[in-house]
Amino acid sequence: MLVRGSWRIGEIAGIEIAVHPSWIVIFLVFSISSTMVAQLLAQDMGVRLSTASGVVLGILAALVIFASVIAHEFAHALVARRLGIPIGNITLFLFGGVASILREPGTPGDEAKMAAAGPLASLVLSAIFAGLSLGADRLNWGWVTTLFTLVASANLVLALFNLLPAFPSDGGRLLRSALWRMLGSQARATAAASTVSAVVAGLLVIAGTYLTLQGRWNGIWLVLIALFLLQAAIASGRQARINYQLENLRVGDLMARTLIPIGGDSSLAAFVAGATSDGSRAGYPVVSGGAFVGLANPRDTGAVPPTLWGQTPVSAVMIPVTRLPVLSPDARASDALAALAKSGVRALPVFENGELTGVVSEEIIFSALRDRGVAARSVNARDMAARR
Ligand SMILES: [Zn+2]
Repeated sequence: MLVRGSWRIGEIAGIEIAVHPSWIVIFLVFSISSTMVAQLLAQDMGVRLSTASGVVLGILAALVIFASVIAHEFAHALVARRLGIPIGNITLFLFGGVASILREPGTPGDEAKMAAAGPLASLVLSAIFAGLSLGADRLNWGWVTTLFTLVASANLVLALFNLLPAFPSDGGRLLRSALWRMLGSQARATAAASTVSAVVAGLLVIAGTYLTLQGRWNGIWLVLIALFLLQAAIASGRQARINYQLENLRVGDLMARTLIPIGGDSSLAAFVAGATSDGSRAGYPVVSGGAFVGLANPRDTGAVPPTLWGQTPVSAVMIPVTRLPVLSPDARASDALAALAKSGVRALPVFENGELTGVVSEEIIFSALRDRGVAARSVNARDMAARR
């Protein structure tokens, strides 16, 4: 479950910690800017700092700051684990750190606890380092005071930045949990939170551009982060609209109702030749002695070579009804997708009052989503079902 190309650097409390190569870039940027800030701080405090010790201090500060980033992610991961949500690993990359939480929280309360843990850890670290810096100052340890002051402010910035309402950042998640509580639907809350986030990210892009034009080079950094947030907000908004439709669409609204029954003993050759492209989206009900016995699809001819299609009955390649979970017309589209993914078949029968009334498949569900303008050309159904 590592981000592709990441290096594993260790494991704490059963949670793997990895570093993505892009992190080297941000580590260098942090070391250099920490060196520069340390020189300024030292000047302010009347401490003499040679160039060499300035560089060492910068690198040291960057290391402690990244340890703080790991602590922030750890706070998220540990709360998730306590709530029974499986966690993957913690990866450091270009824009900081990310803890991969393998399942979405089930309630607004869990979401809020998980989201708040990270910024809270950063605030506590900031207070601890500020205290240490005061102590070091008392002892006249100029060098150490500079380091602690730097790390304390970095943790404060980390907490505040993460609290920006830009989903899926921590602040965005807190916003979503509040909206979720209000609206009663996670999907609608995500859609609303994503819209707010896109606006916030857009404003940050403008602010960053303004700063850059004013000659403040760190404005470029703000623009980059804001663009990253904007892209994430748009992606989660799209996902939320899909989930919302899936939760609200009923199987009965989208299933294929025009069923073309195939006799169980008709030959596979005749079945494949006579199958229409529309039928292949859904699957054909196979009947034997007037009873529904399974679903067949012309694309599933099993391991039967075409030379034997003439003497193979359809019933030999169909999925028997005993292997198929049965859906009712008022089942949610999301449940149908989950059932399809779980049983690993192309289509499922829909029964009403004990009678076969329709057939539903992933293709039918996604074409219904496309008709409603929410799904792009290709959505990976198994991916989506697994995410739930
Ligand atoms: Zn966080």
